[in-house]
Amino acid sequence: MWDAIVAGAGPAGAMAALILSRAGHRTLLTDRIGSDRFRIGETLPEVAGRLLRSIGLPAPETDGPHAAVGGVFLSWNSDELIALDSFRSPAGHGWRLDRKRFDADLRTAAIAAGAAYRNDRELEGAHAADARGARLKDVFGEGWIACGDAAMSFDPISGQGIFSALHGGLTAGTAVAAALNGRTELIDEYSARINDVWTIYRKRLRSIYQSERRWPAACFWSRWRDAGFAAN
Ligand SMILES: Cc1cc2nc3c(=O)[nH]c(=O)nc-3n(C[C@H](O)[C@H](O)[C@H](O)COP(=O)(O)OP(=O)(O)OC[C@H]3O[C@@H](n4cnc5c(N)ncnc54)[C@H](O)[C@@H]3O)c2cc1C
Repeated sequence: MWDAIVAGAGPAGAMAALILSRAGHRTLLTDRIGSDRFRIGETLPEVAGRLLRSIGLPAPETDGPHAAVGGVFLSWNSDELIALDSFRSPAGHGWRLDRKRFDADLRTAAIAAGAAYRNDRELEGAHAADARGARLKDVFGEGWIACGDAAMSFDPISGQGIFSALHGGLTAGTAVAAALNGRTELIDEYSARINDVWTIYRKRLRSIYQSERRWPAACFWSRWRDAGFAAN
């Protein structure tokens, strides 16, 4: 009955379901019972707004439930507090999201594109991954493909999880839509891109963590040192 079943209706899954449905494939988007629970607010970079607009979806409204990020204060390898004003950023401001609402709006867009949605079951065989970042060795196999955190998750310091989930859902959905029409080459391109993103991300992460040298004996930093990231 279904051409594609998307397990998990977060940003990645909802985006993949939307793309598959727009391509005319009968798509079921599923999530677990209670998936519409409260989620802590997270930050979405402006580049994600451009991605959403590029496929005809609105960027988060700042007069709605989401708040514009005027800037950030950070203290890294120094006790001095540095202010980074979004006004000076060529990309503009990002958003402090109401995550529940953001995810619900994406699901609504997928449903409007033709996807069916059910949140009445728990997928078996799901596994937990390291919150500091992890990825699948293979992101696709016979009859399946992974995207979003299920394929590759990032250390929260990177702030790129939701954008990457949206982009992953878009590219994986596009690749599967093509494969369902007999063209499988985009699946390999998708997999190669995941490898490239991971390589760049790990390099940047190492450089960020190595540049903080204040607490070499602290447990958190010694764990990073053991993983080959911290400076001391
Ligand atoms: C502490 C922390 C802070 C973060 N801060 C940011 C931030 O500021 N900015 C940012 O961009 N990213 C941030 N992230 C990362 C971001 O939350 C994720 O990258 C993003 O949610 C990934 O989207 P996704 O669609 O892949 O997965 P999810 O949003 O996790 O969606 C997965 C969906 O699958 C469903 N599901 C899971 N298991 C099952 C099952 N067994 N059966 C059925 N359904 C299931 C879930 O209910 C959920 O709806 C943070 C992460 C953490 C841990």
